Amino acid sequence: MTVEPWQEPKPTMDQLRRLVARIQSYARTSRIMGYLSTIFLIVLMLQFGILVYSQFLFFLWFPAPIYLPEWFYYVMFITFALSMVIYGLANTVNARLNRYIIEYKRIGVVVQLQCEECNRTSDRVWEKDDFVFKKEGQCACGGNQYVSQMYIMPLPLKEKDKEK
Ligand SMILES: [Zn+2]
Repeated sequence: MTVEPWQEPKPTMDQLRRLVARIQSYARTSRIMGYLSTIFLIVLMLQFGILVYSQFLFFLWFPAPIYLPEWFYYVMFITFALSMVIYGLANTVNARLNRYIIEYKRIGVVVQLQCEECNRTSDRVWEKDDFVFKKEGQCACGGNQYVSQMYIMPLPLKEKDKEK
C-alpha cells in the first residue's frame, strides 16, 4: 500500500505563498482575540467579585449589604454576553488556524531547481521521491536542471522574524 502525500491537482508555489499569508493573518487575529478574552475575563471577574462581596460577604468589610445600582447588573450582563461572543469568535479563528497549519505541514516543503548552465533557479512544492541532485526538466536556456536544495517555507509570525 502506498501513501500519497496529496491528491491531484498538485499544490503550486502560489497556493503555498497564499497559505503562508493566511496563516500569518490568522495568527495575528488569534493573538488579538487572546488579549481581548483575557481583558474581558478580568473585567467579568472583578464585577463578579464586587457582586459577591457586596451581597454575600459584606460582613468582611461592611456592616450591612450594599445595594448595587441597577446599571451594575446591566453592565455585568453586557460584559458576559460580549465575552461569550469573543470566545466563540476566538474558537472559530483558532480552529481555522489549526486547519491551515495542518495544510502547511503537508505542503510546506519547497524544492529549488537550478540550471547546470546558467544557475537560474525556480521553486516548486515538494513531491514524493524528490532528492537533492535529482535531474529534472530543462531550463529556458536549454540546460539541464537539478534539485539544488529543499527547505521548509519560512513562517514569520512575529515582527522580529520578518527582519531576518
Ligand atoms: Zn539555464
